[in-house]
Amino acid sequence: MQEGRTLASAGTATSPATEDLNVYRMSTLQLDRALRYLPSIKRGLIDFLKRPARSIIVEFPVEMEDGSVQTFTGYRVLHSRVRGPGKGGIRYHPDVNLDEVRALAAWMTWKCAVADIPYGGAKGGVACDPKKLSETVLRRITRRYIAELGDNIGPFEDIPAPDMYTDAKTMAWVYDTYQMMHPGRNNLPVVTGKPVDLGGSLGRREATARGCLFAVQRALSRGLLPGLSSVKDATVVVQGFGNVGGIAAQLFHEAGARVIAVSDSTGGIVNESGLDPNAVARHKEKTKSVQGFPGARNITNAELLAWPCDILIPAAMECQLRGDNAEKVRARLIAEAANGPTTPAADDILFARGIPVLPDILANAGGVTVSYFEWVQNIENQRWDEAEVNEKLRVKMERATDAVLDKQRQLNERVAKGEIIGADGIPIREQADLRIAALVLAVERVANVALERGIWP
Ligand code: NAD
Repeated sequence: MQEGRTLASAGTATSPATEDLNVYRMSTLQLDRALRYLPSIKRGLIDFLKRPARSIIVEFPVEMEDGSVQTFTGYRVLHSRVRGPGKGGIRYHPDVNLDEVRALAAWMTWKCAVADIPYGGAKGGVACDPKKLSETVLRRITRRYIAELGDNIGPFEDIPAPDMYTDAKTMAWVYDTYQMMHPGRNNLPVVTGKPVDLGGSLGRREATARGCLFAVQRALSRGLLPGLSSVKDATVVVQGFGNVGGIAAQLFHEAGARVIAVSDSTGGIVNESGLDPNAVARHKEKTKSVQGFPGARNITNAELLAWPCDILIPAAMECQLRGDNAEKVRARLIAEAANGPTTPAADDILFARGIPVLPDILANAGGVTVSYFEWVQNIENQRWDEAEVNEKLRVKMERATDAVLDKQRQLNERVAKGEIIGADGIPIREQADLRIAALVLAVERVANVALERGIWP
């Protein structure tokens, strides 16, 4: 993760030269901006909603393939359990650190609230480079990490899921480890994103990308982009060709969009007449890269982010659209399939340029929504058909999209009337973007439940 130089103040634009790329401070700044539109929420409650309920760091040894022993650092942060048990993925990446996990855990709290599913937010990760580790070592890392977390995860405590560089196989190891430690009861709901034959939900693998498609379709059908009422015939660019980005490219293609450029960590490819995402996936499977795909031209990731298109889908990692490149974006709409791909400075630039950003806590909420469906199926010993899962997901994503768009309209009507008074006693004049609207909606939902329950004891 990249470290910035100074911390921008809440509510003000940041210049590229002073941009802070620490994702924890970025998530806090996003929240502070949204809280300006919620002056009636009490300071003490805000502090409680901001701070993670607990942050765990575990250091553990793992025997490597050559017999040597290496110590790994794992994290699990439970940000909030106001609305239900913690929920959030496990990430394996060399840059995983406490600040990143704290930011991702907070975003999970707001995402579950926007999607209106009964969870708080959590996130975990192990600092390791999965590309350089054998499957055996990754299994040992997973088992030991889960054993170290002990009862800090559990079906009604904190429920992990996949994230970057973890998948259904990793979740099977998580389940198996927890099951060995807690025999004699139904432990399937301890983790979601499991293989389908091990209690995983049909449709979970595709859910984040499918949810993104549903959100984009709904927003377009409600007139978010003048002259473009559907993804059909829209041009689409996808950054990241993993679980989320690869499937998003496929699903947008199936919905009639023209996917003209995609990328992975090695670089991008473009073909203005449209790529066949299935064929690109086969090429990547064979060569480990999207680059070199027959009939397409290689481009850099920087060029890809600036490629002219209707819809740009960042589906790789944080801080990809920043103060130093947001002016170059030539997309009409951005749908954040990744978590935290747009910095606050980029938000300002894109908003001023009239480019709406469907924020991560809405656009990629499909994954956690179907994780919730998996958890419900596990508790009830049920297996829903894929069509049923997808239909339920469509309803949830459309409702969430409507709620965010409606919240933005309501906030901006109140701003226009001078009804929202800032801490300095002066009415707020800045119109709210979609991220602020989504965060306001989420904070209101979490704060309401906190007040209904009352502060313990
Ligand atoms: P993944 O590991 O399957 O795929 C990540 C992809 O990004 C890979 O293709 C990788 O090559 C590419 N990549 C990495 N660095 C890149 C760079 N600098 N430029 C371009 N491409 C790059 O991970 P994933 O599960 O698809 O997750 C992607 C993003 O979506 C993450 O931000 C994650 O937090 C978010 N997300 C995932 C889920 C889920 O269900 N998996 C749910 C919600 C959000």
